[in-house]
Amino acid sequence: MKFLLIVFAAFLTLSVKAQDYRIVIKNYPKNLVPKISDAVSIDKISQNEIIAFANEKEFKELKKLKIAFSAEKLKSKPIKKAADMSLKTATDISEMADFNLYPSYNVYLEMMDGFIKDYPEIASLEEIGESVEGRKILALKITGTEKAENLKPEVFLTSTMHGDEVCGFVLMLRLADFLLKNYYNNSEVNSILNNINLYINPLSNPDGTYHGGDDDISSARRYNAQNVDLNRNFPRLETFGRDFNPEKETSAMIDFANKHNFVVSANFHAGDEVVNYPWDSYYESDFTLADKQWFVDASRQYVETARLTDEDYMKSVDKSGYIFGSDWYKVSGGRQDYMLFFKRCREFTIELSSTKLLPVSDLDFFWQKNEKSLLNFLKLPLQGLTGRITDSYGTPVKAQISIKNYDQNNSSVFSREEDGIYFRPLTADKDFEVCVYADGFKTECQTVTTKKDENIALDFVLTEGVTDYSTATETTKKLSDISVIISDNKIKINSLDVISKVEIVDVFGHIILQDNPEKTLAEYSSDNYKAGIYVIRVKAGGRIKTHKVLITK
Ligand SMILES: [Zn+2]
Repeated sequence: MKFLLIVFAAFLTLSVKAQDYRIVIKNYPKNLVPKISDAVSIDKISQNEIIAFANEKEFKELKKLKIAFSAEKLKSKPIKKAADMSLKTATDISEMADFNLYPSYNVYLEMMDGFIKDYPEIASLEEIGESVEGRKILALKITGTEKAENLKPEVFLTSTMHGDEVCGFVLMLRLADFLLKNYYNNSEVNSILNNINLYINPLSNPDGTYHGGDDDISSARRYNAQNVDLNRNFPRLETFGRDFNPEKETSAMIDFANKHNFVVSANFHAGDEVVNYPWDSYYESDFTLADKQWFVDASRQYVETARLTDEDYMKSVDKSGYIFGSDWYKVSGGRQDYMLFFKRCREFTIELSSTKLLPVSDLDFFWQKNEKSLLNFLKLPLQGLTGRITDSYGTPVKAQISIKNYDQNNSSVFSREEDGIYFRPLTADKDFEVCVYADGFKTECQTVTTKKDENIALDFVLTEGVTDYSTATETTKKLSDISVIISDNKIKINSLDVISKVEIVDVFGHIILQDNPEKTLAEYSSDNYKAGIYVIRVKAGGRIKTHKVLITK
């Protein structure tokens, strides 16, 4: 029986890895777009045509919709072709001096290392994790020296989760280089870095980008090494993350997001030119976006400064240059909505270039277009509110900071447990009534007027008492976010919060395993246990959940 199970599991892995398809759907029924988007990974959509990618499983889902389409099987192994000079890679770091080439994987690592060696006082490296094939997913942290780090909001820029959308990869490296070189002699850069903690991840799907090998990007592809679209792989809002089955790259990103408190972020793509803001997974009429004006203002600002260099830039989707995600097309399991809904971080999806594999001769022009907009983007968390929540003894309190008659669908923010600090970006020149909720403390409210390009200091000192939730106007949903499943001879525990403790208890009540994973995904081989019923106790995000599982042999 066990033998059979192994054979079956091996077959499943093979069949998932075997094939992917490029799909064209002409004259598609408009009302079926959400269903098509659920089934396959839409790449481009126009009035009369959808181009999408699908792995074997997604291909079967598409067939169920019974619509006409054509499909081209993509080769699972890249074909060796003559070197494409327009996609030339630098195999020596000196060739990257002008950012006019794509770096080979090793040159990329060398560049990231070079940044921290050249600027040790303001740059450091954090390893987000590893890809399926063992390549590094890195974040370069850049922060000025003039202000305590915990008093500065964290900003995250991440690119190329679709491995063939490579413009942002080089742009992020160039931005890092620009900021580091100019920190000491450009007052704008100096002021930005003294007021934020910036994290730059130039490449979040290295296996996709280096699909053709570490020195080649001409065979780059969208999916990761398991044929999965990472931008459909994040916890879904619609199911509150319960169907969450993360790839290695996604788990690493979620652990990274849990470790930090990102206030604003951007995720860079290509294939079109547009600034896309939440929600991707819901229509506006079904799911209020409280900060819509803030998102529109920020998007418009990005487009306006980019068009100073090229007035025709960012017109491929909407002439305004920006769009509410689901007005373009609906996406479930994307990282943007995950970051806003689950992590309370305002994330944008920025499509930088219509051409995915952008010729190296165009890289400089795309930097010129985006340079000013990127700098402005980094200032976004510096307008709104910031402060510290403490009790009357000065001890930090983790509290919910919610704006009355304004916040909806998790747009409120939380202060951090360790220091009580919070950041809340908001539109300028408006009055907001801000209320603070923490169990065991009386609810406090204050009215404040926001100002342009200014973070208004708003501290709260809470006194012990009964929390008055009746003033809370934000609809908050209770999430059940820990799942325990047995598959592939493994006990797999998934959580949206970091799992601090796991206990496996047998029928006699003996604790037979105790672990402190400190990750969002924990796996244990079920081969170690006799057939029978076990209780699995999981502690994550301060909550304990108990699951009963049956292990069969
Ligand atoms: Zn993309």
